[in-house]
Amino acid sequence: MERLQKVIAHAGIASRRKAEKLILEGKVKVNGNVVRELGVKVSDQDQVEVNGIPVEREEPVYYMLYKPRGVISSVKDEKGRKVVTDYFKELDKRIYPIGRLDYDTSGLLLLTNDGEFANLLMHPRYKIEKVYIVKVKGIPNKMELKQLEKGVLLEDGMTLPAKVKVKSIDKRKKTAIIELALHEGRNRQVRRMFEKIGHPVMKLKREKYAFLDLQGMNPGDIRELTPHEVKQLR
Ligand code: URA
Repeated sequence: MERLQKVIAHAGIASRRKAEKLILEGKVKVNGNVVRELGVKVSDQDQVEVNGIPVEREEPVYYMLYKPRGVISSVKDEKGRKVVTDYFKELDKRIYPIGRLDYDTSGLLLLTNDGEFANLLMHPRYKIEKVYIVKVKGIPNKMELKQLEKGVLLEDGMTLPAKVKVKSIDKRKKTAIIELALHEGRNRQVRRMFEKIGHPVMKLKREKYAFLDLQGMNPGDIRELTPHEVKQLR
């Protein structure tokens, strides 16, 4: 048995707080009857509706994917390109990615069918650390790296302080491999940050998400998170 507001939140319809509001407003039905009190519990068998629309209920699942390059972080693509949920065809559950990696970015991506969990992790307040390995054109100097660390001004504002480490330099090819740890996740942020300091990204991989890494995995591999890992992320 689960609390009604939790069922609604898990389905990704509203936060728990908003779900409580929907209940108090009389917008939620259980087995066809309006429920206006908080604290009502429902079983798997109960039919829940919000604003007349049935709430899909599935056992929550949590996975990570080592996303290869050339895959869209979405559940479908109009152009028929490969999408991240193609790796979960056998699962028979409607999961979706938590955030995105660009088409050309590889690395660690979480997927779930738990809307509440996804919203939580994507909330800017959460500031989860994500570590990227970035191959860039040219060799950034100390001043440029300091800029990345302190924050650079992008169209959508200053970036938060970041951690920067030079992993290697190829003087002949004039490229560098940099590790960048961010606590935010704006659209194409890493690419835009390096663009801004004059070193366009040639290759990008997300190596870590919070305490999770890709150890023992190859591109295209998936693995379920352990209940302990899910708990630690919450
Ligand atoms: N930053 C980017 O620019 N691209 C990604 O895919 C992830 C972070």
